[in-house]
Amino acid sequence: MINHFRQAPAVCPRCHYQFDCSTKIMGDDDEAPKPKDITVCFKCAAILEFTEDLNVQFLTQETMDNVPVNQLYELLFMARKIKQFWAEQN
Ligand SMILES: [Zn+2]
Repeated sequence: MINHFRQAPAVCPRCHYQFDCSTKIMGDDDEAPKPKDITVCFKCAAILEFTEDLNVQFLTQETMDNVPVNQLYELLFMARKIKQFWAEQN
């Protein structure tokens, strides 16, 4: 089962979409987002990471360097799916 987590509003630094919910797609289903977790903006597909206060920022070089390659593929796949979803809405 996919869990959705309610959270304080966070703002995408690329498209300024404000979201208050995230969905876990990798790792322990019951674990809420934590700082340095990686997420994908549902509006513009930017790959982002949670900050200490659970807002989001662009991926830092440090985080990027530490993402396992298979997870990087998953993130890019997710970003592509989001772009396809919005393209099909038009
Ligand atoms: Zn965005």
